[in-house]
Amino acid sequence: MRLSQFHLATVKEVPADAEIVSHKLMLRAGMIRKLASGLYTWSPLGLRVLRKVEAVVREEMNRAGAVEMLMPSVQPRELWEETGRWEKFGGQLLKIKDRKEQEFCYGPTHEEVVTDFARNELKSYKQLPVNFYQIQTKFRDEIRPRFGVMRAREFLMKDAYSFHINPESLAQTYEVMYQAYTRIFTRLGLKFRAVQADTGAIGGNASHEFQVLADSGEDAIAFSDGSEYAANIEKAEALAPAAARPSAAANLQRVDTPRVRTVEDVTRHFGIAADRVLKTVLVRGKEGLVALCLRGDHEINEVKASKLAELPGESVLASEEEILAAVGTRPGFIGPAGLPDSIPVIVDRSAAVLADFVCGGNANDTHYTGANWERDARITRIEDIRQVVAGDPSPDGHGTLHLARGIEVGHVFQLGTKYSEALDATVLDDQGKKQVMWMGCYGIGVSRIVAAAIEQRHDENGIIWPEAMSPWRVAVCVINPKNSPEVETAAQSLYDELTAKGIETVWDDRGLRPGAMFADVELIGIPHRVVVSERGLAAGTLEYRARDAAESSAITRDQLFEILS
Ligand code: ATP
Ligand code: MG
Repeated sequence: MRLSQFHLATVKEVPADAEIVSHKLMLRAGMIRKLASGLYTWSPLGLRVLRKVEAVVREEMNRAGAVEMLMPSVQPRELWEETGRWEKFGGQLLKIKDRKEQEFCYGPTHEEVVTDFARNELKSYKQLPVNFYQIQTKFRDEIRPRFGVMRAREFLMKDAYSFHINPESLAQTYEVMYQAYTRIFTRLGLKFRAVQADTGAIGGNASHEFQVLADSGEDAIAFSDGSEYAANIEKAEALAPAAARPSAAANLQRVDTPRVRTVEDVTRHFGIAADRVLKTVLVRGKEGLVALCLRGDHEINEVKASKLAELPGESVLASEEEILAAVGTRPGFIGPAGLPDSIPVIVDRSAAVLADFVCGGNANDTHYTGANWERDARITRIEDIRQVVAGDPSPDGHGTLHLARGIEVGHVFQLGTKYSEALDATVLDDQGKKQVMWMGCYGIGVSRIVAAAIEQRHDENGIIWPEAMSPWRVAVCVINPKNSPEVETAAQSLYDELTAKGIETVWDDRGLRPGAMFADVELIGIPHRVVVSERGLAAGTLEYRARDAAESSAITRDQLFEILS
């Protein structure tokens, strides 16, 4: 490609609303342009990268035995009513009407459509297992679209759905997909980790997220230094402390504590560490309020809490009015000692081994010191409801947990029969009996990967593409072609030879000053840069520089082809 014939539109200034480096660099390189919140146009340059990612994903999906298809993005309401998700999916579902006032949604995902396809197409166990996939545009009306294409409203996803006669077959395909994902992210040159993920309402242990490691990531992951254990922090289990609860030594005392409301206030007021303070959070239960008790230095894990039998499937803090009505005190002074009997007290495993602790006094401006479980405060149940912290023992018993941030680029999930049951997707088994099919689903955020790669690979001058994702592998830059027909001819012949060898090359023939030309080539992240100049021609060399190298070097044409092969 001759750059003079391509629309390259790099910019110097960064729009103020770009918070993270990938968003800034994608805008500066001119890969994307914003149309509206969460909606982006991919420029010719951006699209070249997106297509590279797509190609690797497609190749590996095909290699893993999945078959490609394409489903509509607009989906009828009736189908979503069959699974109950027309209402349940919530605000992310963009609902639209046609001219006959019939309702549709713009697909945020395709379980309904693919299961409808499967129930019509698949009749016999002999057609199973089968794994359908597509690479297609999704729309989700995200509450906070941000970071450019990282969390957009419209984005490109690879979604696959497998169908099986039994759970064993599902587990096999799940493993094949797990391996395919590992190959995909390795080929794309990303530093990533597969982590155990929460399975939400469906339950079971069969879900992994593929997380690209980056400080800007929205997800927190926990991993062990002594084993392969890695999990999303939403899922990571906090083990019960090994040591038993010490016996009570202090007496329970009510203390006046005006203006002492937060754990930090309490530690300062009493001169004790946060791990000696008990904090109590009141949340809305199925009937009335529920108290969740944790150590002062720990945080609630909302995903774990939402699964408590007393809670309605989500963990929502009680309002000040609800707390006043139920306990007669303001938030900040709640504790388990003397709490009304109607309120269940769920105690975190680590909080349950505290003795002689400080907690709220259930009256305005008071706390208790010397509080002890059983003697002063009842325990309804001990549960794991906290977020793990760095230094916790790994739940598999090997090593210590560390925390890192990640960007979720892929998700594999054993769905079971949730959708096939709702849509009555059955086949006949080898006994001629109707069986509901088992399903798996496997997503990859194709457009998000582009941003995630930049988060990992950049420097102060711009993007550093991994070879597999780069818009071109080589940039040929020509110094002063106007002054020297020999230079022009040499550049043309080099470009022709590279292209003939199937090496994707961009020829910067725009006639810019060297500084401006090099700045662009670095900003857009081309892995190999070759400079053709009069001086080099005289010496029989080319000036070569790898994007991630500190210096350039003079090499021969043969050496260049050696480097590129
Ligand atoms: P997240 O937790 O980031 O919202 P999700 O759990 O909703 O992701 P899935 O429904 O599993 O995501 O979708 C499959 C993949 O699609 C994700 O792993 C992610 O890479 C990508 N993805 C999801 N939402 C977005 C978005 N708003 N913008 C870009 N990519 C997205
Ligand atoms: Mg989401």
